[in-house]
Amino acid sequence: MVEKNQNLFERAKKVIPGGVNSPVRSFSSVGGVPYFVRNAEGPYVWDEEGNRYLDYVQSYGPMILGHSHPAVIEAINKAASCGTSYGAPTKKEIVLAETIVERVKGIESVRFVNSGTEATMTALRLARGVTKRSKIIKFSGCYHGHSDTLLAAAGSGVATQGISGSDGVPESAVFDTLVVPFNRVPEIDQSTAAVIVEPVAANMGLVEPKPGFLQELKMACNSAGALLIFDEVITGFRLSSGGASKWYDVTPDIWCYGKIIGGGLPVGAFAASRELMSYLAPTGGVYQAGTLSGNPLAMAAGQATLELLGEPEYEYLESITNRLAEGLKEAISKSDLEICIPKVGPLIGIFFSVNKPDNFEEVKPIAENGLYRDFFHGMLERGVALAPGPYEVLFPSLAHTEKLIDETIEIASDVVKEISPNGT
Ligand SMILES: *Cc1c(COP(=O)(O)O)cnc(C)c1O
Repeated sequence: MVEKNQNLFERAKKVIPGGVNSPVRSFSSVGGVPYFVRNAEGPYVWDEEGNRYLDYVQSYGPMILGHSHPAVIEAINKAASCGTSYGAPTKKEIVLAETIVERVKGIESVRFVNSGTEATMTALRLARGVTKRSKIIKFSGCYHGHSDTLLAAAGSGVATQGISGSDGVPESAVFDTLVVPFNRVPEIDQSTAAVIVEPVAANMGLVEPKPGFLQELKMACNSAGALLIFDEVITGFRLSSGGASKWYDVTPDIWCYGKIIGGGLPVGAFAASRELMSYLAPTGGVYQAGTLSGNPLAMAAGQATLELLGEPEYEYLESITNRLAEGLKEAISKSDLEICIPKVGPLIGIFFSVNKPDNFEEVKPIAENGLYRDFFHGMLERGVALAPGPYEVLFPSLAHTEKLIDETIEIASDVVKEISPNGT
């Protein structure tokens, strides 16, 4: 019997808070009922009602090859048949660490954890342990997972210190977290342990770093003796084979990864020079551990994914992203809507505004103008799934053919006609 999404949502809400295990999935920012996925393959997901969607969510990034890639599924099956967790080291962990070390200049040593949240949380602990300092600087609108320290809110001023970003996060937990505007190099003093940044901000729509911003940030950290942390949970192995640090030729002190490096299984990692990483237990005094860390299924899925990502794949991703960006711009230019499509390599976002925002203050009014919500629903009704929130980006995968991109553009032209303020 086919169970309707509506019914599943009601059932889910009875036993799972809000019916979901991560808030954005609830459609609370776009309204309506989420589709409950039954299965997925390549560029598509199908819901329990049997509706097919061309998927630009792709699990928010991990599925760069598209869903259910045969090589990834085979790697997972093969790993699973050998047992699913041991509490002892495996060769698979070495292989994936070696792959990351090989691809990213500056990385010598990698520690695997179970999520991006764990990666950034521990990167901060490492930075504090190394520098013996306590202050952390983060940028407003950059998301680094949900650890207490990083759930700090921005005030309206230039820099805000110690404002909790969530109920349940006491001000004491964010006392040492300073929140500053993206794209402006903050003052960094001798009390700052680390500055953490998404090198390309991809959790407030897509906001590109201004030319020189990351380089200047690196220099400012160096002269203050603070460590620079690149949160590459999205940009890592998506922006290029060496992520954002290669793309911009800026070498941070610590890198954080997640998403792609687990090929769709729960994973995270942080990485640095061998010297920095030696501060971690068991060689150093910064404690960190994990029962399921370096899980063999996740390692196998991540390795299978990275093995299929070479230069031609990045070129292809960038070419379909360009095609999508140009097509959307043209489609929308024929309507009364204003749109800008920020794009960095294969990363792409949508803002319904005339000007590209440079920071969260500028993003907020655009994201809240209601047009994304209308666009989202128009697309979904026609079988194209975008992220159910205006602060996300699109994740075209290697399974998205040029034909599918063109289909997306055609559908978008229909949708914008419908939502144009003057209803052309
Ligand atoms: C998704 C994300 C995280 C958090 O990763 P989880 O695996 O969801 O904990 C951290 N940083 C960035 C930039 C992300 O996009």
